[in-house]
Parts: sequence; C-alpha cells; structure tokens
Amino acid sequence: MKVAILGGGPSGAFAAERLASAGVRTVVFDEKLAWEKPCGGGLTWKAYSQYPFLQQNDTPKKIVTETNLSAPKSQPVTLALDRPLLIYSRFDLNNLLLDRAQHAGAQIEKDRVLNIERTGSGWNLRTKTGTVDADYCILATGARNPLRDFGTELTASDTMSALGYYVPGDRQKIDIQFLPGLEGYIWVFPRCGHLSVGICGKGETAAALRVRLERYMAEQGISRDGATFYSHLLPCLDTPAWKRNRVAGDGWLAVGDAAGLVDPITGEGLYYAMRSADLATQAILADTSEDIGLAYRKALRRDFVHDLEFGSRLANRVFHGTFLWGAVTSRMVQFTRLSPKFRDVMQDLFAGTQPYVGLKKRLFRNLNGSLIEIVCNLGFGRLVPGRDPA
Ligand SMILES: Cc1cc2nc3c(=O)[nH]c(=O)nc-3n(C[C@H](O)[C@H](O)[C@H](O)COP(=O)(O)OP(=O)(O)OC[C@H]3O[C@@H](n4cnc5c(N)ncnc54)[C@H](O)[C@@H]3O)c2cc1C
Repeated sequence: MKVAILGGGPSGAFAAERLASAGVRTVVFDEKLAWEKPCGGGLTWKAYSQYPFLQQNDTPKKIVTETNLSAPKSQPVTLALDRPLLIYSRFDLNNLLLDRAQHAGAQIEKDRVLNIERTGSGWNLRTKTGTVDADYCILATGARNPLRDFGTELTASDTMSALGYYVPGDRQKIDIQFLPGLEGYIWVFPRCGHLSVGICGKGETAAALRVRLERYMAEQGISRDGATFYSHLLPCLDTPAWKRNRVAGDGWLAVGDAAGLVDPITGEGLYYAMRSADLATQAILADTSEDIGLAYRKALRRDFVHDLEFGSRLANRVFHGTFLWGAVTSRMVQFTRLSPKFRDVMQDLFAGTQPYVGLKKRLFRNLNGSLIEIVCNLGFGRLVPGRDPA
C-alpha cells in the first residue's frame, strides 16, 4: 500500500512517521515544508507526556513554569504551572517532525497538491510539478484546506480569526488576558529569541481583533518595532458542526486542522493534530475487516472528540457568562488567586488533564471549599459587583 499525505505540518508529518515506521510506503507533499506557521507554539503536558520525544530532543524550546492571568475588574494573578508548558517556534517544531518522518523512511516532497481524483480503488494526485498515484490519502492541509470536497466543511461560525506579532524580546512567563465581550483571549508566549503576542476571537473580524491587540500591546509597553505580523484561521467548531464533521470518506482520512480538531475554548490544536494522526494511522494499520473511515471516526470520538464537542457547548458560558454577579473570566482570575482548590483545577486545565466533561461537576464539588477559602482570605463582601478582591 502507498499512502499520500497532503500537508507536512504536525498532523501530516506525524502520520508520515507512524506509517513509514510500520513499513508503509509513504509520501508527504507540503508546499512550504518547515515554516513559521502562525501559532503560539505551546504544547501542554498532555501532549509531551503522550509523545515524550516532544520534550526529549535538542530542538530549541522554552520551558515555561508560570503564567499571569488577567481579566477585566480583577487584579492579575500568577499561576505556577506544576507541569510546564513547552513553547516552540513552529519552524523548529515542523522541522523536528519532518526530520523524524524522513528518518522513518517517508519520502518528503516540497510540492503543492492541486487536485486529487479517485481512480478505481486508488488516487491520482495532480501537483504543481506532475502527477502521482497512491492507494490512500491523508488530508493534513490545515485550516485553509484548499481541497473543498475533502475534510471539514468550515463555515464562518466554525472558525475564529487568530493573529498577532512575533516581537523581539525575552520573558519567562506567559501572559493571558481576557477581554470584555470577547469569545477568545490575548496571549504573550515567550519563545527562544522572541515573543509570540497574539489574539484569537470568535465572531469578531480580524481587523477588530487587531485593534484590540494593538491597544493591549501599547498599554503593556510591548513595542511593535521590528515585529512581524501574522494571521491565520483557527477551526472552532460549533456544537452542530461536530455532529456532521467530515473527517473520513472513501479512500481518505482528514487529520488536524483539516478535520477541525481544535479545542473550541483554548484554541489548542497541536496535540489534536498529532493525536488524530496517531489514530488515523492506527486505523489504516489495523488488521481488521472494519472500514478504515468508520474505525477512525469511532476512535476519534472515544479519544477526544466527545470532550471537544462538550467544550463547544461551554465556550459561550466561559467567555460571556456571569457567576456571582461578575464575568466568569474575572471570577476565574479571582478564584485562582484566592482558592488553592480552584488553582488545582486551573493547573490541570493548563496541563490538559481536566476534560470538559466533568469540569462543571468538579467545580461544583469544590465550590463550597473554594468559597470557604475565599471568604477566609477576604470576606464575601468583596465578591459583590464593583468591588475587586485585593
Ligand atoms: C495564531 C494561532 C495560534 C495558535 N497557537 C497554538 C498553540 O499555542 N498551541 C496549540 O496547540 N495550537 C495552537 N494553534 C493551533 C495550531 O497551530 C494548529 O492546530 C496546528 O498547526 C494544526 O496542525 P496541522 O498539521 O493540522 O495543520 P498546519 O500546521 O496548518 O499544516 C498544514 C500544512 O499543509 C500544507 N498545505 C496546505 N495545502 C497544501 C497543498 N495543497 N499542498 C501541499 N501542502 C499543503 C501547509 O503548507 C502546511 O504546512 C494556533 C493557531 C493559530 C492560528
């Protein structure tokens, strides 16, 4: 069997490594190969504990152990990350993954796929430089997938804009800033040699997000001198879109952003890109009579899609909801400062180990304890509107 992988980002490169390691003839096409794809580059503990090579390698990366959280009407708080976040430049991360694929025996082609056509039980791929035959296709072309008949059909309500600047500078901590009325947030991610300062938001134009980000940068004294602007799409599927999501068809599977597999609250996509690639290759390599597409769909759902779909139902509540007369995001920041029990939940969320299914239950189970901790620290009076706990 020969598998063609369209796209050599984290999902495509990792799928290639897995297939080639198992002895499958694998060819990857990417028009750019390793490049600085617009991204924060943050990898959670969930990602590098499952795929330890992401941590254990010589590729430059920043290991971050603290994050500042800020929201309107609440003082910022610093959260210690008991399981650090790794932050890569995307050029370095893509390079690492493509190198591994090549060492495993995959053929890597710098070429753009223009079209794919079914030919009996196989495929004919038309690229910028010629044509290639394959038995199976993995679509890993990212959020701007140009092959409209394959992969997730992203509508405007299933995406958000994400943009920012690579800014010269160095820091040790992450900054996360929630903003009034925004289903999204601003981040400042320290990387080796520069910062990735960005914003993502659902339901707002890229121009409006850029204004918000530039205002924030000016307020924080982050200069745009020498900075490089970036922008891209981020899949952010609405709940109904998870139900109809087109992740597989006759002779093909879609992985990563091309399959819409991004956390609809945090925008985390790197782990899901690699995990979906892993599950896709397991379905292809499985020695059973089950249909590959069906096996992949089932595996995705069991593994993380059910949880992300549940997350899509929570997103509106997290970013636009209120709790105890204040915005949920502001309460999150205040509770993080005042309640050790709540801090534990936040640490698990940053590590990627707290599923959305079960989050509400855990929060309510802890609520009494958290409120007692807060009242002990401050007194309930400070949780009323307009009075920020100091
Ligand atoms: C601004 C921003 C910040 C983000 N920050 C984070 C973060 O901090 N942490 C996190 O986990 N996730 C983050 N994400 C999400 C993350 O970037 C994506 O989920 C991840 O890149 C998905 O990987 P992928 O391999 O599926 O797609 P991509 O990384 O987009 O790779 C797709 C590849 O396909 C190639 N390609 C496309 N079309 C063709 C074609 N026709 N022929 C050949 N090649 C083609 C492209 O060149 C590209 O290399 C962020 C996203 C954005 C936009």
